[in-house]
Amino acid sequence: MKRAATLALILLLAIPTALAVGGSFSINSGQSLDSQFVAFRAYLDELPAQDRADWLVELASICQERKEGPEDLVWIPESGKKYHSNANCSNMRNPRQIPRQEAAELGFEPCKRCKP
Ligand SMILES: [Zn+2]
Repeated sequence: MKRAATLALILLLAIPTALAVGGSFSINSGQSLDSQFVAFRAYLDELPAQDRADWLVELASICQERKEGPEDLVWIPESGKKYHSNANCSNMRNPRQIPRQEAAELGFEPCKRCKP
């Protein structure tokens, strides 16, 4: 699933750009993600080398942003001072998920038991 999600993200971000630069790239949304990706690769292969290199840099940075993106979430309890990696840790009441950085800014500290 993770790979499919990454491919979907790449396609979502890549296609409008491809159209904006006047590319002839088109995909059929009925295709599976993998064949959409193959179509995109075929489009890339037809580009002049410099454009292709630009694309690869762009894609690498998309993937990098995804890795460092706002995916780093932790659980905080309704009352308490620790944040957790596991919603079931320490019998939290009404836990909710927020970005780790936000938890830290709110004064929460990492739980020693689940080590988020
Ligand atoms: Zn915990």
